[in-house]
Amino acid sequence: MVKKLLFIFLVGAIPIATLALAAIYHYSETYQSPHFFKSFPPILTSLAALTAVYAILLAALLALVIWENKKLKTKTKATENITQESRTQNQELQNKIELLSATREISLILNQDVDFETILKKTLEVTAHLLNSLHAPHTTATQTHTDEIMIFSVSAPGELKNNTLFPLAQRKGDKTYFESDFRTVPYDSKNVKESAEHNRILFLTEEDELDLTCPLVANREVIGVLKIKTVLEGSSQEKTKQIRLLQSIFQEFNKILALAIKTPDLYQRTITDGLTNLFSKRHFLTQLHTCFEIARRHNQPLSLIMLDLDHFKSINDTYGHLTGDVVLKEVARLIEKSIRATSSAYRYGGEELAIILPNTPLAGATNLAERLRKKIAGQKFNAPAVNGTGHGNESTDDEQPKFIEVTASLGAAEYKKEMIDIKELIQQADQALYQAKQTGRNKVCVYAK
Ligand code: GH3
Ligand code: MG
Ligand code: MG
Repeated sequence: MVKKLLFIFLVGAIPIATLALAAIYHYSETYQSPHFFKSFPPILTSLAALTAVYAILLAALLALVIWENKKLKTKTKATENITQESRTQNQELQNKIELLSATREISLILNQDVDFETILKKTLEVTAHLLNSLHAPHTTATQTHTDEIMIFSVSAPGELKNNTLFPLAQRKGDKTYFESDFRTVPYDSKNVKESAEHNRILFLTEEDELDLTCPLVANREVIGVLKIKTVLEGSSQEKTKQIRLLQSIFQEFNKILALAIKTPDLYQRTITDGLTNLFSKRHFLTQLHTCFEIARRHNQPLSLIMLDLDHFKSINDTYGHLTGDVVLKEVARLIEKSIRATSSAYRYGGEELAIILPNTPLAGATNLAERLRKKIAGQKFNAPAVNGTGHGNESTDDEQPKFIEVTASLGAAEYKKEMIDIKELIQQADQALYQAKQTGRNKVCVYAK
């Protein structure tokens, strides 16, 4: 800088000095002497030549300054570009972090033993939060988004073409609506079926509104659809950017959402017996334990019924295992229909079933057991045509009766304060059942010490 100033000073000083000398020559009488006059023109000529050289130098300097200025501008632009690029990269990274944390939050929810509605509610909450964070760079602090997020599910996976998608849950503002609410709460299912059928993310934009439908895929099968209605902001270029961003984020996020709506189904399967559709033995043990603790804490009655089909082996031997299965299923249905909503039925193992009756004294359990015994004994179970399924003792179609008669033996026991754990209660109900078997079958026995 100092060098430049010095240079400018020198460049400027010489022509100024020349002009000053010419002015002095012109106006001052002192210097009008012939001697001075004589020597002046050569000085003036050289000074003029020098001025010309300096003028050229000045022009060169000016060109240099302009050129440097241009270079500086280019550099500034490049820096701006780099800053913008790193800002974009930073934003992309931020979006990925948001996506990861949303995915993690949902997996944490799924690890908790919560009901389906809670899973849906929390999943929608996390999705709304993710959506908001994606909006953030385009949103002014005072703006709040009124996004609408909805999850649809196919009624039966694998049968998409024949089945409509039905709404599972919707988040509108801070409110969450569930399946039962949709009888009164209106919802929009535009594009949902198309998105599921073509397994593609679809967009619909209308002015500033974006309608996005994203298929939820698990095991390469569309099991539902996520539908988002949101607002786009900024220039049309920015809006296109936002659409692309949402597309890339939800292409990833859909996997965990699919898992979220599938998990309850998986959980249901783990606690349900595949043949009878009753709860499994594993679930029986956890449920009985919970009921046992409640009975102890609140000093409430609790009863347990164990039921075993009589001579079931001979039914299998006579009609085949498939028929045996059908009988077992029908007995399970009959029990399910006969018990209260607070009671629950389980397949304890083989053809042995169990019923937990919370808040029910032994007399109530005995009544129910007797009613069940009568119902089973009175039921005529269909004997489907077997056509020789390979069971040695099977009879032919002609020999088979149309209906099979089945009986069951039942044992009942009730919770007592002195009991240490559920094992004792199970043992006592089992003992009563054994007694029913020993004393003739097709009967109800009660554990009595
Ligand atoms: P009891 O009156 O003493 O209970 O005689 P039972 O023949 O019922 O008892 P046992 O324990 O001797 O035989 C039980 C039979 O139940 C044998 C087994 O093949 C059959 N069984 C168990 N689970 C199933 C099932 O899922 N399907 C079919 N079809 N049969 C089953
Ligand atoms: Mg049996
Ligand atoms: Mg048995």
